[in-house]
Amino acid sequence: RAKQQGRNNYQLYTPALGARALERLVLENRLYKALEREEFLLHYQPQVNLITGQIVGMEALIRWNSSDLGFISPYQFIPLAEETGLICPIGEWVLRTACAQNRLWQSQGLPQFRIAVNLSARQFQQNNLLKIIDQILAETGLEPYFLELEITESIAMQDVDLTISVLRKLQNMGIQISMDDFGTGYSSLSYLKHFPLDTLKIDRSFIRDLMRNPHDAAIVKAIMALGHGLNLKVIAEGVETPEQLEFLRSVECDGLQGYLFSPPVAAQAATEIIKNGKLNMKN
Ligand code: C2E
Ligand code: MG
Ligand code: MG
Ligand code: MG
Repeated sequence: RAKQQGRNNYQLYTPALGARALERLVLENRLYKALEREEFLLHYQPQVNLITGQIVGMEALIRWNSSDLGFISPYQFIPLAEETGLICPIGEWVLRTACAQNRLWQSQGLPQFRIAVNLSARQFQQNNLLKIIDQILAETGLEPYFLELEITESIAMQDVDLTISVLRKLQNMGIQISMDDFGTGYSSLSYLKHFPLDTLKIDRSFIRDLMRNPHDAAIVKAIMALGHGLNLKVIAEGVETPEQLEFLRSVECDGLQGYLFSPPVAAQAATEIIKNGKLNMKN
């Protein structure tokens, strides 16, 4: 309507619809079209076993290259996709693409590992989630063991009974489950023992200041003890320096993910990393 009224009309910029709201509206509008315009792609970041240096997993991370807005961070558009419900079709695309990619790597005879996919709250609460995953695994031919789903504490805590029942079904299917960004949410320890999990991922915020902040070091040690006490693997995210690596080795962390080894990269670059095998463990 503003356009019809001529170029010098600034009606859209009234206080009622401020610049932020307008930006959101534009983003939302583009997001609706992004799937059919094929503007999404996945990047992959290796997860490395701390003892052997072998790649034990690849986390799939979505990228949006909008034809008219350029690259937009998932921190910006995932919450919007969540609010609008678009996250369900987008998340399904991510699952299908990631599973197909892992199957492709396997068919090339490369060393095998799990592909990790982030789930959003709405996706997790979708009542046909298990059916969709089952269908995608059948379609792509990927064994469930080679798929790992990442959920956050805030997702898990929204409806604890639902969480337990969905996670149990996923685990019965043979799928691995990890708790992402662990330590930043509000999951109470008494619930943690009821959640069927395989892995805890220590949030990047605790790793970042590990060498400067003794409190962070204490928290990381506590999470290690908690995880191992519950028979879970513990992975650290956001590992950037050899000093952090050494600390994590000393507390017997199982796996590492971070720029020290590789940032998330496009499929082709990820293939090269996998072909090269072990990653440089520095010292
Ligand atoms: P996340 O699942 O915790 O993913 C880790 C984030 O940390 C990624 O950001 C990754 O690029 C970044 N990262 C990895 N190593 C380092 C490091 O050493 N240093 C620093 N500074 N950063 C590192 P990214 O790719 O921007 O994704 C942000 C968040 O968006 C993800 O956090 C996840 O919550 C969400 N997300 C990404 N892809 C998807 C998706 O396909 N579905 C859903 N539902 N959420 C997604
Ligand atoms: Mg994640
Ligand atoms: Mg994470
Ligand atoms: Mg994180």
